[in-house]
Amino acid sequence: MQRGRKKTSAIEYNSNFVLNYPNACSNITSTVNSFQGGVCMKGSIYTDQRCEICGGTLRHDENRDGFFCKNHLKIKVVPEKCRVKFGRQVSRRFYNYEYLKARQFLEGLRFKTIEGTYDYRDYLSKNPLGFQNLAEKWLAHKEHYISKNHHRNIKREIRKAIDTWGQTNVKAIGYGEIQDFLDSLKLSSKSKSEVRSVLHTFFTWVCRREKSVEMPDFPEVKFELGWRNIINIETQQAIISEVKRISWDINPKIWIGIKWLATYIAFRPNELRMLKESEINVSGFFVVPKAERKKAEADYHAARRY
Ligand SMILES: [Zn+2]
Repeated sequence: MQRGRKKTSAIEYNSNFVLNYPNACSNITSTVNSFQGGVCMKGSIYTDQRCEICGGTLRHDENRDGFFCKNHLKIKVVPEKCRVKFGRQVSRRFYNYEYLKARQFLEGLRFKTIEGTYDYRDYLSKNPLGFQNLAEKWLAHKEHYISKNHHRNIKREIRKAIDTWGQTNVKAIGYGEIQDFLDSLKLSSKSKSEVRSVLHTFFTWVCRREKSVEMPDFPEVKFELGWRNIINIETQQAIISEVKRISWDINPKIWIGIKWLATYIAFRPNELRMLKESEINVSGFFVVPKAERKKAEADYHAARRY
């Protein structure tokens, strides 16, 4: 055992040391970049740390599960910092003697390569397949094609998902994740169904753009539209009388408007809103100008403003 070493934990190599990866590593050096009988040996782990005795470079030895200096082959070193390199694209650093994590990360990449699911973009620090990155890209794209109101709505819905998933890789978001997310929302089933629909549109866009992403299954969100309250004529009349009693002194228009809408059921609220006092005959009747004419007038006035 080496004593007084600060930055390394060095232990003498023990010949009885049990190899963790006997099948994968027999007779193959750590940097071999090939498949052998379903075994992927691509990638390796590196460190900038030097041998504390002679200053020589430390090389990773998978068979002995550690780093060794070629002049001191019996001293196994676990460096404070190391780096996994896998092909040209992936390079990830590990700190605080996290050699074991580095090792697991490398094995994970190799496993995915054998499995055929390895995609280097899943491991880039810029994270192009991160949920938040893609969601923001989608919002920016949508801005050119939909109304401001609609855009504000979908932004509000997708924000809820960003708060939950952050930069999780979109490929890791499936049926279960979507269901848990929808269940966690404290919303009515109708609002949940709207969030679901926004997510569905987003994922459709992602899958069209990123061929390696598969469309996840979406859980159903069932909802029923609420019924309007229907009251009988007596109750209706009682309500209208009460409205008259409490609002007459404030403004008689409140009561008369409600009374007319209740009496003339073909009379639309918007037509009432556009009705002018001059169009009401004081002898007790009024003719509602056709909504089409009103709309044409409104369009005419709007056009004049530009
Ligand atoms: Zn050395």
